[in-house]
Amino acid sequence: ISRSKSCTGSAGDSDASRGSCSPYRVVLLGASGVGKTAFASIFAGAADSMDSDECELCGDEEFEKEVEVDGEAAIISLIDKPSWDSECDQNCPMQSGDAYLLLYSITDRASFLRASELRIALRRCRPAQHTPIILVGNKCDLVRRREVSPNEGRACAALFDCKFIETSAAMQHNVWEAFHGIVRQLRLRRDSKEA
Ligand code: GDP
Repeated sequence: ISRSKSCTGSAGDSDASRGSCSPYRVVLLGASGVGKTAFASIFAGAADSMDSDECELCGDEEFEKEVEVDGEAAIISLIDKPSWDSECDQNCPMQSGDAYLLLYSITDRASFLRASELRIALRRCRPAQHTPIILVGNKCDLVRRREVSPNEGRACAALFDCKFIETSAAMQHNVWEAFHGIVRQLRLRRDSKEA
């Protein structure tokens, strides 16, 4: 992904918006081929209809972008990592993210199982924290190739104490809902900390 827009203005200028505008580090996790790059492309604006958003290319795999969720600005720093071993060290994204989109493909049961493994690895890396996570069943446009039902996805999310959404990056269906959902969860956590 090479497209970038310049990011103007510091997000945290006013006290009212402070906190809402420090970047949220959101990490894309999932097996190879599930659609992480497609998600990152939509986020980065390659095929995005939200033209007013501002985006900055921060590196090969990290994009920073301002989005508006429920009338409030937020900056997401999206980290798109290829799948990697679930062992974690200090630098691994399992330690550094504020929130996670855990992707699988509804056409690939192995990727669903991989998502479970990654969820368990996340819990192991960050046992004491309630980290916002959304389990994302991508490629829901491929109805005839479906291997994982929505109910299985929902049940898995309930088991793992995270939210669930089905998406199609190809159809741009629910992708922004997933990003907005993660911002809402991060805000809930922020608000409960501030209270
Ligand atoms: P990654 O390895 O997780 O980054 O997966 P990619 O984003 O590279 O996607 C792998 C392949 O699946 C590519 O050919 C994408 O075009 C395709 N793909 C990604 N998302 C979708 C989707 O929602 N629907 C369909 N039909 N194909 C998708």
